[in-house]
Amino acid sequence: MPITMPKILSCSVLDCAYNINSECHTMAITVGDANHAECDTFYKAGAKGGAADLVGGVGACKVNLCRFNKSFECSAPGINVAPHSGHADCKTFSPVSR
Ligand code: SF4
Repeated sequence: MPITMPKILSCSVLDCAYNINSECHTMAITVGDANHAECDTFYKAGAKGGAADLVGGVGACKVNLCRFNKSFECSAPGINVAPHSGHADCKTFSPVSR
C-alpha cells in the first residue's frame, strides 16, 4: 500500500512560528534526530509564518525506532505534536517492541 503524507492533527506548541490556533501551517515537517521524536521544523521567530490555508504534514521522519516508520517515512494516519522541555515532541511516536 503506498504511503501518503500524514497530516499534523494538532500541535500545542503555540510559540512556534508555524503554529496558529494549535494548527501547523508549514507544508511539511521533519521529525527526528534518530533517537528522539521531536519536530525538527519547530522555529521561534518574531512573526508567524507558513501558509494560513494549509495544514502541515510529515514530510520525513528519521526515527527508525518508531513502529510507524517505514524507510524513514511516517506511515501513521496522522500525528499530534506537543511541547516537551523547550522543544516539540511527536506524541504519536510509538517504540518498536524488540
Ligand atoms: S508541528 Fe512543528 S513546525 Fe508545526 S507548529 Fe508544531 S512545532 Fe511548529
